[in-house]
Amino acid sequence: MIVETARCVKCGLCLAECPTYGLTASEAMSPRGRITLVQALAQGQILPDDHSAEVLNSCLLCRRCEAMCPSEVQFAKIMDQGLSLVRSQQGIKSRLLNVVLPRPGLMRWLLRLGRPVLPVFPRLSILARQARTDAPRPAPVYRPDISKPVGRVGLFVGCTGSLFDSVAVDSAISLLLRAGYEVAVPAKQVCCGALDAHAGNIGRAVRLAAANEAAFAATGGLDAVISIASGCGAQLDAYEVLGARHRDIAAFLAQEKVISRLEFRPLPKSAAVHIPCTLENVLHSGDAVMKLLACIPELKAEAVGKKGACCGAGGTGAVLRPGVAERLREPFVRQIADVSPDFVLSSNLSCRLHLQSAGDGQDPEYLHPVTLLARQLITD
Ligand code: SF4
Ligand code: SF4
Repeated sequence: MIVETARCVKCGLCLAECPTYGLTASEAMSPRGRITLVQALAQGQILPDDHSAEVLNSCLLCRRCEAMCPSEVQFAKIMDQGLSLVRSQQGIKSRLLNVVLPRPGLMRWLLRLGRPVLPVFPRLSILARQARTDAPRPAPVYRPDISKPVGRVGLFVGCTGSLFDSVAVDSAISLLLRAGYEVAVPAKQVCCGALDAHAGNIGRAVRLAAANEAAFAATGGLDAVISIASGCGAQLDAYEVLGARHRDIAAFLAQEKVISRLEFRPLPKSAAVHIPCTLENVLHSGDAVMKLLACIPELKAEAVGKKGACCGAGGTGAVLRPGVAERLREPFVRQIADVSPDFVLSSNLSCRLHLQSAGDGQDPEYLHPVTLLARQLITD
């Protein structure tokens, strides 16, 4: 990893794009500052302490710096190592989050109890309202209503997809079936590992990746493994084997051979479209979302926010650093208000909830883009 940090030539071109540098004007809070810090920690020049932990944990992991770095520094890999080096300094809230969130069984149990740990994190109450603890797990295989499927794909729903975003999961399945694909949803898939990687628990992130590799390999030949949430997708994209076959749902559906098999009913409404930083900077699929939405006749869809910018919900920012998260959200909220849309669409659940929590109760409807597409899908 020292090799990776050495690729940074300290040009500083990434600084202007970094949200935490933008807020603080502090070199330490910039990509270059964080790379220098990880280098010093890795070489034993300094020991982890509260300051180094705060500098690294406050990174939103939006990867804007990585997307625009002319030296192609793999910032995410550097951060994985840095976060593991300061893991011992992690706060209690962060530890608790990382125990509960990737474990859907535990989360279901806590939510059913009605007195979960959520009051410790007031911002998670909106997440609790979203949960469908009675939603059935997806079936292992869905077959299209045609004699010969055009292909076979695996669907990654991860640890919380069927608990917190089951409508998006169902919508993705409907669209893929209508496009003629058989859809495998392996029951043995687990959390993508992003939460553990962000908490510096690399060992567990690696074990989760191995479990997912095995779960999807066991389903037999797949044309692609598709993710619905861009945050999970960014993690899957780095998997050793599965990463090569991984596609974001929008990127997969937007391929000409797929989209040409889908037809949509007109919708004379407006949508503000939030493209999550992970979708733009890591998966490069923001344009695919806009291309798909353009297939709904009469829908006026407008992207909001600066391209690749983080809305503040990156990592566990919205929960653990709400003040910073709110400041980063402001330009998005202003633009959404200007558009005054019927729908706000975002491919990442935590971004969607973060944007929604700025609302005043007279909100538009907040949806994953595939949910709106599936609603308008012509099926007969
Ligand atoms: S990360 Fe890339 S853009 Fe940023 S200072 Fe280093 S070399 Fe320059
Ligand atoms: S990932 Fe985002 S917040 Fe972190 S250093 Fe890079 S640009 Fe800044």
